[in-house]
Amino acid sequence: MPLTDTLNRSLRDLRISVTDRCNFRCVYCMPKEIFGPDHQFLHRDQILTFEEITRLARIFAAHGVRKIRLTGGEPLVRKDLPDLISMLAEIPDLDLTLTTNGSLLPKHARALKDAGLKRVTVSLDSLDNAIFKSMNDVDFPVEKVIEGMEAAAAVGLDPIKVNMVVKRGLNESSILPMARYFREKGYILRFIEYMDVGHSNGWRMDDVVSAAEIVKMIDAEMPLEPVTPNYQGEVAGRWRYKDGSGEVGMVASVTQAFCRDCNRARITAEGKLYTCLFAVKGHDFRDLLRGGATDDEVSQFIANVWGKRDDRYSELRSENTISLPKVEMSHIGG
Ligand code: SAM
Ligand code: SF4
Ligand code: SF4
Repeated sequence: MPLTDTLNRSLRDLRISVTDRCNFRCVYCMPKEIFGPDHQFLHRDQILTFEEITRLARIFAAHGVRKIRLTGGEPLVRKDLPDLISMLAEIPDLDLTLTTNGSLLPKHARALKDAGLKRVTVSLDSLDNAIFKSMNDVDFPVEKVIEGMEAAAAVGLDPIKVNMVVKRGLNESSILPMARYFREKGYILRFIEYMDVGHSNGWRMDDVVSAAEIVKMIDAEMPLEPVTPNYQGEVAGRWRYKDGSGEVGMVASVTQAFCRDCNRARITAEGKLYTCLFAVKGHDFRDLLRGGATDDEVSQFIANVWGKRDDRYSELRSENTISLPKVEMSHIGG
């Protein structure tokens, strides 16, 4: 029987963070002032092993999960990640994908593909080096990310999707150049509204550029029309260019909440299960796994947590919710 929560939402999509570390310091995710040289990252023995992750993935798949996305931190900084991919690729009927900042793709694309990865999503917030560098905050150039995308395309990790977080005052001027460039390339660009995940980024509603604003801006130059979703629960609203030259996605998590169809669970690198990106509390798998729980016990644990789930943070977001305790994006993975 597929699991359903208190709002009748099933569990289909699992995001697994494989590390809390990253080689970027994006200002909206891991600002340097907080994630500086003294920041305590998780120790190796605190994070789930590949065997533990694979075991959990199998149990989730038995509960109806059909899509697994690996994330981080930056997933490609986790040593030997292709080994994990090949272990997960053995699970039948699973759409296996990865979100990355692209910096290490030139080095790892081939091994990831050979291990069984199907697709990648690459994050890129601007084509303008001054803007991009001010956002990744480690002086990382645009060309290297594009090189990563091309390395992925060359080995057949496609269709490539591109994630662009838009933060007011930082990169609105990059919206049109990004749309033009990726329309030409044939990659699906997804605009993500800046979200109040965690507390370190000092989020304010005024910093959010709404999906409606972005659609309007693109439509004025390259006319757009809405497309019906591929499946129920699809995160990005789909829009296609009227001249048939491709599409863009809008992840309007702040201005048009999609909690009603949210079928996603998340596991942090240290093995905590979160049923919402904004959940106040996670449920610990690591002690359960390391304490000798059987597969049936772990399965029951998942069923209990999902059965009680009533999360719908984005529908309830207000001045009062912003200060609630929340997990950082670099832990939960987006
Ligand atoms: N490091 C990888 C990357 O950047 O693609 C994977 C992890 S990252 C946390 C996953 C996605 O979350 C990225 O596309 C990133 O741009 C997005 N993200 C991070 N912080 C965000 C925020 N505050 N609001 C909206 N999206 C955010
Ligand atoms: Fe790193 Fe991704 Fe967060 Fe940027 S968004 S700091 S690349 S985890
Ligand atoms: Fe899902 Fe929580 Fe986001 Fe709503 S706020 S869509 S429940 S993750």
